[in-house]
Amino acid sequence: MTPLLELDNVQKHFPVRDALGRPRGAVRAVDGVSLHVMPGEVLAIVGESGCGKSTLGRVALRLIEPDSGHIRLEGEDFSALSGQALRARRKHAQIIFQDPFGSLDPRMSVAAAIEEPLILHTGLTRAGRAARVADLLTRVGLRPEMANRWPHEFSGGQRQRIAIARALASGPRLIIGDEPVSALDVSVQAQVLNLLQDLIAEFNLGFIMISHDLGVVRHIADRVAVMYLGRIVEEGPAAQVFAAPRHPYTRALLAAVPGQGNKAAALQGDVPSPIAPPPGCRFHTRCPHAAAACSAAMPELAGEGHRAACFLADSLPAATPFHENTTGGERLTRLAARFQRENG
Ligand code: SF4
Repeated sequence: MTPLLELDNVQKHFPVRDALGRPRGAVRAVDGVSLHVMPGEVLAIVGESGCGKSTLGRVALRLIEPDSGHIRLEGEDFSALSGQALRARRKHAQIIFQDPFGSLDPRMSVAAAIEEPLILHTGLTRAGRAARVADLLTRVGLRPEMANRWPHEFSGGQRQRIAIARALASGPRLIIGDEPVSALDVSVQAQVLNLLQDLIAEFNLGFIMISHDLGVVRHIADRVAVMYLGRIVEEGPAAQVFAAPRHPYTRALLAAVPGQGNKAAALQGDVPSPIAPPPGCRFHTRCPHAAAACSAAMPELAGEGHRAACFLADSLPAATPFHENTTGGERLTRLAARFQRENG
């Protein structure tokens, strides 16, 4: 089966200049990333703030142009498209942003916001577009008559549902959610996550979930890619990554999740500057297992199915498995069940 999205050695560096405008290096936001997403699959990209995951999401859709590498959408070279061909292809790939308050234009009614992509990407008549807006609102759990209201009349969760309806309007095959529930209350997170899961199944969407919240990721992801300083350091099926993380960085991220009771293994120190990342393994300045060789050469992703970029991945002591009953995902599941009971 052809992947919906393939990134091949994609790179994006942002030039840094001093006060006089002279070049002073570059922020290596995305530094040689390869990944893929299949139809109906949820790939989570996780990592600390500043690891490059949000930039990667924008580069994948060419909202930010990559410096190098290849992007393929359903086998087609998306990197090579321009003009009308690029706009036409973009309707198959949409993004949902974190901020449900900033992602909707306050001067556009809900109907106008959802109708805009329909005007751009479909040949529907005015009546056809109105029917489609009503249908999309229903699908995201809102009432069709809400189409005539304005964004300020809605709660954060409702606005995110409107943003999802807008993203679905062009009939995408792939959606990227950049922290799509992190600005919402926990009980609303559960509703929106369940809605996303239903829509992914109904439309066989490929979904990339960019998130720092590993509880949420455990709840929704099929596969996980862990990013550190612009590179993927671990990638594999979510169940395996959570049960037996292979990279020391992933282990530290999981240990830091509240309720894991493993504070000693949690991350120490700050993320080094992406302008001058450490030589060799970029994690060696924070890694409790670092050896001399780790600063001399960069480890590449290795392994079958569940891969890690660590020289010692096969010889580290067994990791402490993630406690499922303490995850945010478990909490979300319980809250969602309660919401369903209370609201029929
Ligand atoms: Fe740690 Fe070395 Fe593995 Fe890097 S290669 S994660 S420094 S053990």
